[in-house]
Amino acid sequence: MLNKKIRPRVVIVGAGFGGLAAAKRLAGRDVDVILVDRRNHHLFQPLLYQVATAALSPADIAGPIRAIFSGSRNIRVVLDEVVGISTVDGWVKLKSGAKLDYDWLILATGSRHSYFGNEDWSTHALGLKSIEDALAIRRKILLALEHAESETDPRRRNALLTFVVIGGGPTGVEMAGAIAELARRSVSRDFRTITPECSRVVLIEAGDRLLPSFPARLSEAARSSLEDLGVEVRLGSPIRDVGEGYVDSPHELIFSQTVVWAAGVAASPAAEWLGTEHDPNGRIFVERDLHVSGHRNIFAIGDTANAPRRGGGSLPAVAPVAKQQGRFVADLILGRGAKEFTYRDFGNLATIGRSSAVIDMGGIGLTGLFAWFVWSIAHVWFLIGFRSRLAVTVNWLWNYFTYQRSARLIMGEITYSRPQPLRAQPERKSA
Ligand SMILES: Cc1cc2nc3c(=O)[nH]c(=O)nc-3n(C[C@H](O)[C@H](O)[C@H](O)COP(=O)(O)OP(=O)(O)OC[C@H]3O[C@@H](n4cnc5c(N)ncnc54)[C@H](O)[C@@H]3O)c2cc1C
Repeated sequence: MLNKKIRPRVVIVGAGFGGLAAAKRLAGRDVDVILVDRRNHHLFQPLLYQVATAALSPADIAGPIRAIFSGSRNIRVVLDEVVGISTVDGWVKLKSGAKLDYDWLILATGSRHSYFGNEDWSTHALGLKSIEDALAIRRKILLALEHAESETDPRRRNALLTFVVIGGGPTGVEMAGAIAELARRSVSRDFRTITPECSRVVLIEAGDRLLPSFPARLSEAARSSLEDLGVEVRLGSPIRDVGEGYVDSPHELIFSQTVVWAAGVAASPAAEWLGTEHDPNGRIFVERDLHVSGHRNIFAIGDTANAPRRGGGSLPAVAPVAKQQGRFVADLILGRGAKEFTYRDFGNLATIGRSSAVIDMGGIGLTGLFAWFVWSIAHVWFLIGFRSRLAVTVNWLWNYFTYQRSARLIMGEITYSRPQPLRAQPERKSA
């Protein structure tokens, strides 16, 4: 009788930066891989804000997972959502009811929005995590401009032309800069009653500076570049409430029809599936080789893991960490590579509008146009697929020289009814 070799079965949950990197490393190797994702596409989240502000189309920054692995016979892609894990029997449970057995399990399920216990704010302050989120924000911004064009009530018009971004990390800074360019510059020549001065963009941050993970000098450069674009930056301003058409901050009660939430994230519920220890943001504590304590065959990587950093603290939730961790655990499964994960930090980047960025490369700080070129090249380089790289480059060049936005489409049914009258004065929460 032929003795057929049984290959280890690796289940990877999540085809984001971490899961994709692991699967690529395992492609063509002597293992059977099942890659499960609840979406059919891999998403390049760092450019989501450009979809939300009509500079890029969804397909420019996302690619079908199945197509990425079409040539890898040992990788099976499953479109489904993981809802539980049995560590005793070694399977993951899917929403469809199916179960997938594993010898090795890699959890790379990323993160979700956190409204710090104020879940009712999510209806009014839209988060940015998925293509659907980006399209909802784009619709809101573009509709606000359309309604403002014909609005005759000055208070309502001001609220339509006021855009508030909450959270001064990289996503908030990039969103605020991009909205300012869209609302104050790109569209004003297409409208008859909206001039660049009509629109107001407010960036609200609870801490005392923007981009807290960057050196203070670069935070200051980012603030100054945003102010050059006309963004009002409010620091030390923890918001008290967000409701229909308003944001209540310590400085001011701001009436706005478009509020973007870029303030908080929490890990996926993977820690709950395992019943394991996690930090206050829900990130699973992992050992130095990224396995989950008590489960040598289960790894957690990327945004869903709290991994120790050499020299103390934990690693940041950024794409390069997830990618390097994905490759590392794949090597461990293949029985090669180092025994402990070491993060190689190549720097931190954030862009402000179409010609300014800040970059922190291990003590070397870059700002302005040169930093923006480096940022652009890095982002195009890391996009999946030649088609996306070409499309993004062409779109950026077009935007750069014309100030036009190629994806200014309002999708879905458009309501022509006038927005609800603004409440004279929402009840302010005490500080
Ligand atoms: C708007 C925005 C801008 C950002 N900008 C930058 C930046 O400029 N630079 C940077 O380094 N980082 C940036 N980040 C952070 C970076 O995107 C994340 O750190 C990175 O995506 C983490 O990778 P991951 O693999 O852990 O998770 P993700 O890339 O989020 O992937 C998680 C995957 O898991 C899937 N999934 C989740 N739950 C389930 C489930 N139950 N079942 C099946 N599938 C599931 C999801 O569909 C997704 O495909 C940004 C993030 C956002 C949201």
